[in-house]
Amino acid sequence: MIVSDAARATAAVRSRFRTVLFAGGPVPSWHERAACASAPTSMFFPETGGTLQAVAVRAAKRVCAGCVVREQCLADVLAYESRAHRRYGVAGGTSAAQRSQWSGRRR
Ligand code: SF4
Repeated sequence: MIVSDAARATAAVRSRFRTVLFAGGPVPSWHERAACASAPTSMFFPETGGTLQAVAVRAAKRVCAGCVVREQCLADVLAYESRAHRRYGVAGGTSAAQRSQWSGRRR
């Protein structure tokens, strides 16, 4: 079986979403229409700090801005994070730092 680069990229992003944002559970079906489905995982979950991380976060937010499932993504991620208190990566057009700030204001 031949697996395309796009299919590999999609699988990689979905795997990261599952691990990081949904605690190993299934990724919601809305992710099948996600604009980030074939984006590099390093864009949404950058490992480095400083300028490179800031560039990746801005690029990821631009992808989110055109995503048709953005509202659903953000709602599900906020619901998950409110239980797990773990925030990582760009989701729903927001950075982990932004979501932490929102969470702090709600407490
Ligand atoms: S809003 Fe962003 S992180 Fe969420 S599915 Fe769309 S592109 Fe991916």
